[in-house]
Amino acid sequence: RISETSVLNDEEASLEKSLRPQTLDEYIGQEKIKRNLAVFIQAAKQRQESLDHILLFGPPGLGKTTLAMIVANELGTKLHTITGPAIERTGDLAAVLTVLGPGDVLFIDEIHRIPKSAEEILYSAMEDFCIDILIGKSEETKRSVRVPLPPFTLVGATTKAGMISSPLRDRFGIIGHLEYYKPEELFQIIRRSASILDTVIDDEGAMEIARRSRGTPRVANRLLKRVRDFAQIKGNGLITKAIADQGLLALDIDSEGLDTMDRRILSAIIDQFRGGPVGIETLASTLGEGRDTLEYMVEPFLLQQGFIQRTPRGRIATEKTYQHLGRVISERRAV
Ligand code: ADP
Repeated sequence: RISETSVLNDEEASLEKSLRPQTLDEYIGQEKIKRNLAVFIQAAKQRQESLDHILLFGPPGLGKTTLAMIVANELGTKLHTITGPAIERTGDLAAVLTVLGPGDVLFIDEIHRIPKSAEEILYSAMEDFCIDILIGKSEETKRSVRVPLPPFTLVGATTKAGMISSPLRDRFGIIGHLEYYKPEELFQIIRRSASILDTVIDDEGAMEIARRSRGTPRVANRLLKRVRDFAQIKGNGLITKAIADQGLLALDIDSEGLDTMDRRILSAIIDQFRGGPVGIETLASTLGEGRDTLEYMVEPFLLQQGFIQRTPRGRIATEKTYQHLGRVISERRAV
């Protein structure tokens, strides 16, 4: 599960690099964001101004980092990357801001995790393209100097919409919510990735992986890679529906594309809380998982697919869940 967050092992990191689309045209899906960005990028280039700051919301693996790279690429400027947790002191942020070139893109992943003091520096950097830095060690020599910055574009990404303060949010001119991908879109991503990986896959094989990738390109690419191994060892190299099915089952991905963690959550709601409602905190501690992991990484897909419903008193398992897990709904607590 961990590999689905921003922490990737070396193999996955290099895979991601090779499969990443480089231009907006190559970027599949997220049509609304793409359409808008294309216009804003073209307009900024014509006016020879920096592009407005962009805030991207969405679960891990949906293509936020990729979009930031594409924006820099389309603008023809340089991309600088840092993550929220890597900014411990204001100096860490000042260090990246002061090396930016005109029109460059600064991508801050997990922007909800930067400390408050750094966030305040970001305000003036974003709004006025300058920062105030405190210099001098003793009380007598201590003073604040204003450092001008070149116009730049900040791209902030976060999995947690509720965790961005409104002063920060208000400073972004462009806000995009990334959606889970439709199977047809993941199908195209898988076809594209397969051709980059020199793997032969038929349409049914690609669709099978697409349907079972949790609406997420990162998952689709990872499953493709694993299924490719099955095709090589158990078949003749071609990924068919049968090979995909065999591979996905071996990886514990079920017919609806749910993985072990998804099913643990759903089973816990049914077996330990008689179908719910159960609060997210209680559910997290029952499963021994972090509340954030559950709330921002696992649950959104289950909600979107109608396996869980949110009620004021907590999460409940739906009829679809009972059916999918082969449980009897009459054992459910009256809600
Ligand atoms: P995030 O930053 O949201 O966690 P990434 O941008 O790192 O996600 O995307 C994960 C991987 O999924 C990338 O390496 C890329 O290959 C693939 N990917 C993401 N979005 C798309 C897309 N729209 N089209 C094609 N591939 C994509």
